[in-house]
Amino acid sequence: MSASPIHSIAVAPNTCPTCARTIALNDPPFVAELPCPHCHAPLILIRTSGGPTLYPELTATPIINRTLHALELRSAEEFHEYIVHATMLDMLLLCTDLTEEFGDYPDPPQHLKVPGDHLHWLIHKYAAA
Ligand SMILES: [Zn+2]
Repeated sequence: MSASPIHSIAVAPNTCPTCARTIALNDPPFVAELPCPHCHAPLILIRTSGGPTLYPELTATPIINRTLHALELRSAEEFHEYIVHATMLDMLLLCTDLTEEFGDYPDPPQHLKVPGDHLHWLIHKYAAA
């Protein structure tokens, strides 16, 4: 267990944040809604560089929606495509837009390796606020 302050939001990859039991996930989509098969808590799955990570639906959905709205994207898949194909200028614009929406964003976000890491960062920083 890490001493990270985010640890109550996402316990570990493949782990339900509500009941802490493991959820087997084979080749999951980038973002998906699913109930925990054990405790039936509504969850959002996000594929991050650390593995498929699960968040309480009420925690993750508002952050994802604000992110998509700030970037004028319609879906999580569009966000994924945007990040995958982003140029350095695109990333600068993304930082500007997300800083405007949330008040802060890593600049440049080099430690965010895959599209899901951006959502993960935002959820951990802003979900509790
Ligand atoms: Zn559960």
